[in-house]
Amino acid sequence: MGIFDIDIKKLYGVGAVRASAYASLGVRTVGDLLSHYPRGYEDRASIKLLDQSDGISKNAYLLTVATQPKSVRLKGRMTITKFRAYDDSASCEVSFFNQEYLKNVFVPGSEFRFYGKVEKKGGRYVMNSPAYEPYSDNAELAPLVPVYPLTEGISQKQISKDIRSALILAAPDNDADILPEEIRRKYSLCTHYYAMKNIHMPESFVALAAAKKRLIFDEFFLFALGIRIAGAKNRRASANPCEKADLSPLEKVLPYTLTSAQRRVIGEIQSDMSRDVAMSRMVIGDVGSGKTVCAAAAMLFAVQSGRQAALMAPTEILARQHYESLGRIFERLGVRSALLVGATGVAEKKRIYAALSSNGEDRLDVVIGTHALLSGGVEFAFPGVVVIDEQHRFGVGQRAALAEKNPHCHILVMSATPIPRSLALALYGDLDISNVDQIPPGRQRVDTFVVDESYRERLDGFIRKQVDEGGQVYVVCPAVEDTEGPFGEEEEADLLLSQVGIDGNLFDMIEEPTKLKSAVGYSEELTARLDGVVVDFMHGKLKSREKEEKMAKFVSGKTDVMVSTTVIEVGVNVPNASLMIVENAERFGLSQLHQLRGRVGRGERRSYCVLVSDASLKPGKARDRLMTMKNSYDGFEIAERDLSMRGPGDFLPASNDGRVRQSGGVRFKLAELCDDTGLMSIAFDEARSLIDADPELAGYPMLRARVENAFALETNSVN
Ligand code: ADP
Ligand code: MG
Repeated sequence: MGIFDIDIKKLYGVGAVRASAYASLGVRTVGDLLSHYPRGYEDRASIKLLDQSDGISKNAYLLTVATQPKSVRLKGRMTITKFRAYDDSASCEVSFFNQEYLKNVFVPGSEFRFYGKVEKKGGRYVMNSPAYEPYSDNAELAPLVPVYPLTEGISQKQISKDIRSALILAAPDNDADILPEEIRRKYSLCTHYYAMKNIHMPESFVALAAAKKRLIFDEFFLFALGIRIAGAKNRRASANPCEKADLSPLEKVLPYTLTSAQRRVIGEIQSDMSRDVAMSRMVIGDVGSGKTVCAAAAMLFAVQSGRQAALMAPTEILARQHYESLGRIFERLGVRSALLVGATGVAEKKRIYAALSSNGEDRLDVVIGTHALLSGGVEFAFPGVVVIDEQHRFGVGQRAALAEKNPHCHILVMSATPIPRSLALALYGDLDISNVDQIPPGRQRVDTFVVDESYRERLDGFIRKQVDEGGQVYVVCPAVEDTEGPFGEEEEADLLLSQVGIDGNLFDMIEEPTKLKSAVGYSEELTARLDGVVVDFMHGKLKSREKEEKMAKFVSGKTDVMVSTTVIEVGVNVPNASLMIVENAERFGLSQLHQLRGRVGRGERRSYCVLVSDASLKPGKARDRLMTMKNSYDGFEIAERDLSMRGPGDFLPASNDGRVRQSGGVRFKLAELCDDTGLMSIAFDEARSLIDADPELAGYPMLRARVENAFALETNSVN
């Protein structure tokens, strides 16, 4: 089609051998080659004096050749060619291997810009096999020289040369820029050709920055367009409209008044569900903003229109809790509900399956459960709405499975943690988003402290004080048992999921492996130290039955202190809990910490969160992050902060939709290294308004082609 699609073999000087070497780098076309970006640049503009060399790093030196090069034969066929060169500070011996012809290049008196490592040997400066370029007052030397990721059979020199030919070929395409001119102007983005040229052969640092900005913008922009377009297709599924939706019965039985945010979100759900197109909506909102009741409303709407509803939660503990609180409400509304989890007995399961698919009086209206809901036995007679709580805990596959199983259902997904809107858009671009952006009145803020190991004794005292006053305590540890590897299965999965979700791991920031507190080990320690306090532990490796029993004891107040891994992170509600202690807090993502903190302060009691970490002793990113927790109570702000501290690249590529990823076309190459979240939001916003105005990008054929290409979309919808 275009110049970018030309086979690499057509490039001057590229034969079959080099082409196959390129293929191993994933480079097949001219376009591929041009987007094979340097992994770094040698700064040859900042010239150092010989006596400024540190003996370690490579630098540029401007030297005058002092002596006629001499070649010496070493053993075998090796030769070494040496000469002396100098600058204003010192002189240096420069040597090359097996390049005798250089004798004619380095003429005494001529100047060269060398780039290499200068070492001091026996009081004399030496430099081996540096890069060199003849220098004169009017020489136009590149300030920055690209360094490419290589493979066997391709050298830096060759790749630079090939890219130069590719750039010459691509030049005529200069005005065929895929980015709409208005957008380019609005954000002072350079042209695509300028960006290509300067990412490979930067004229200056400024030009390089401009090139990067443009190319990163493109990556975000194309990504957002792609998921918007792919998502739009998805959403056209037809559904059974639920027209009889009426919120007032629910409001009557609720022990509180809905916030205006809840009412607005419920209104959005209501309007979606009244249509014959399947709803595909995500509810986001801070911890404790009351998202569950929005789900309850959606389920009620379905039932009011003679349809059924399902709510899927990621853990049994949470499913039970939902069943208990929502079940009570539904009962008062005359809605029949049941709980279906892995541990549900065979006979009961059969009864539920039958009641779900029944046409008669005994039909179940609502089923609440875990991924047991995905089992083949679950068939709805009149499917209405499917709600997925804490959806980031489920793989994209599971989310899709539930949707696929119920093709004409409205789908509502609830997010566990606040996600910055821009990011939510990127990660879940195929969903509409509702934001419960208001916390119910009367909530108290959880005072947060960051402490190090030296506070251990005082911390024990604090635990005791809370318990003596009738409160309860959570202690969260990163490990399951003292002797084992850090994570159990559930925790491992947790971490992986949190990495693809909004949270990320911090392992890269920890220099030394610290000994991690474990749930089992630490609960033993606490039991020994805190006489008369009932301490229990919980982690993902326990049987679900055991977990439930332990949790039930904690909920009923029989257990004072629950030492646990992050399995308790998910939505559980124990209003009497007043203290949350997180051990090795530097190990957790900010949003995860916020979620954990949200486990306390849910009742009357004044509540506290203590983050224990020796990382708080020394300045650095880990400490900054913990301080963010101390200073901010707004989940969205924390999530934004998380994003800006680590950059979106950390999780964006991994977190995009499985369907998109499979196509392999969308890869963040530069954006991965980008910490400019402002650029990301701009690109996402622009992509959205463009799609809103022109859903099929009919007015932007080149852009459409690029997106299709990258996302391997079907092309039939454009004509
Ligand atoms: P989350 O958004 O974190 O899932 P929940 O839905 O679990 O939050 O709600 C947290 C708590 O707030 C629950 O105990 C719920 O009963 C209560 N709640 C929800 N909405 C309101 C409201 N409008 N006024 C008072 N309390 C509310
Ligand atoms: Mg919740």
